[in-house]
Amino acid sequence: VTGVLAELAAAVGPANLVTDPDLMRGYLVDWRGAHVGRAAAVVRPGGTEEVAAVLRACRAAGVGVVPQGGNTGLCGGAVPSADGGEVVLSTTRMRRIRELDRENRTITVEAGAVLAAVREAAGAAGLMFPLSLGSEGSCTIGGNLATNAGGAAVLRYGTMRELTLGLEVVLPDGRVWSGLRGLRKDNTGYDLKQLFVGAEGTLGVITAAVLRLFPAARSRVTAWVALPDPAAAVELLGLLPEDRLSCFELMSAESLDLVLAHVPGARSPVPGRWPWHALVELTDSRPEAALAEVLATVLERSPVADAVVAPGRVLWALREGVAEAQNKEGPSLKHDVTVPIGRIPEFVSRTDTALRAAVPGIRIVSYGHVGDGNLHYNLTKPRGTADDEFAARAEALATVVYDIVAALDGSISAEHGVGVAKRDVVAGYKPAVELAMMREIKALFDPGGLMNPGKVVFPAGG
Ligand SMILES: Cc1cc2nc3c(=O)[nH]c(=O)nc-3n(C[C@H](O)[C@H](O)[C@H](O)COP(=O)(O)OP(=O)(O)OC[C@H]3O[C@@H](n4cnc5c(N)ncnc54)[C@H](O)[C@@H]3O)c2cc1C
Repeated sequence: VTGVLAELAAAVGPANLVTDPDLMRGYLVDWRGAHVGRAAAVVRPGGTEEVAAVLRACRAAGVGVVPQGGNTGLCGGAVPSADGGEVVLSTTRMRRIRELDRENRTITVEAGAVLAAVREAAGAAGLMFPLSLGSEGSCTIGGNLATNAGGAAVLRYGTMRELTLGLEVVLPDGRVWSGLRGLRKDNTGYDLKQLFVGAEGTLGVITAAVLRLFPAARSRVTAWVALPDPAAAVELLGLLPEDRLSCFELMSAESLDLVLAHVPGARSPVPGRWPWHALVELTDSRPEAALAEVLATVLERSPVADAVVAPGRVLWALREGVAEAQNKEGPSLKHDVTVPIGRIPEFVSRTDTALRAAVPGIRIVSYGHVGDGNLHYNLTKPRGTADDEFAARAEALATVVYDIVAALDGSISAEHGVGVAKRDVVAGYKPAVELAMMREIKALFDPGGLMNPGKVVFPAGG
């Protein structure tokens, strides 16, 4: 490994090759502190050609490369392994917005651009980039693409797959693929860009992307809705106007309890304690759209217990506070699952019942993008239980959750990806042919297994 460091320094400049353990520390642990690795160096290229030079040097030396953007991923995908022989390739210097094309409604950005900055650039042009995540102040477009990020507006605009028209990628052997086409129609063969979206850095390094923009929302209304059960949420979802519905988020009472306990100044918008809450948002590109009236009419006809309608985004802090609030309550077991929307009530009732029987007093902090059938079905230990005792049951409890997801034709990773955290367990729920195709694609692009080693793809016979 030491032999390659001089070449890396020459490729990116000595100031952008970090080997000091103190300066590397932040790159070696994930946002939750759940995954910690070691590395020979962190390299910070400033552009596509420098990325290519880094990959060529690492390939020649047989050194593994771990791409990293904002390091907000939740499956340990951006953290190197414990052996200390890999190099972390940080994209944070590559944050230029190369072009905004109003007529084509596209923006071309470098992979290290922070999501919030891209949203701001689109907004400044009177347009909108709709991907919106709790981590948008830190996560990067490259990370969003590599994990096929979802977030709150998927039910209207889709995931990163639907938002991407073109990519520029450096392949593991250092070749640059310039696929930055801003076309909505391009049927000239395999859709190669989609191979890299959701690949979590295992097939190459994304260096830039052409993304779709949309008309900005000029009117917006949100409602906080108290509900008796998830079935009432699914019924309400079906009554809302699809062409204006931009978000439909669900939270259990236990999720709201944690926000009220840990987020300074947080107050429940409705009096009393209700089993479930939905945050509903309608938007329209016309300023004069009478959204509050539309929403009020639907709410009158639907099975809601109570509701508060508010303009703008004032209610969002409660929904966005859940992840941080749950962290403050100690370690939690997280499951990011999806089932067909109509099966959410059955999923919740079957899983809640099984887990409460297995662990009396368990706190089920489930919340998420229910308009996409996606729940973050997270578990916090019963009060008074030791952290270790609860953590020791993680695998058994995950099996309970995932077996029910599989029985309902769902997926055990809706939007956070696979990384290392879910690699082995995902393999247990995929057909053998699908696993074999993934291995074959990986071997084609990366025969040496040097791109984000050990992530996503379950090894044959492993
Ligand atoms: C508070 C919070 C809320 C979140 N909410 C959501 C949510 O609603 N929806 C959602 O989908 N996710 C969510 N996430 C997860 C996370 O923010 C997303 O997965 C995000 O897209 C990761 O971007 P990043 O730049 O931080 O990537 P990183 O964490 O740095 O990397 C993630 C993966 O992408 C790879 N990668 C990064 N950059 C590149 C590149 N240029 N080329 C190739 N591979 C690359 C890494 O190797 C790694 O495997 C949330 C996270 C937090 C902390």
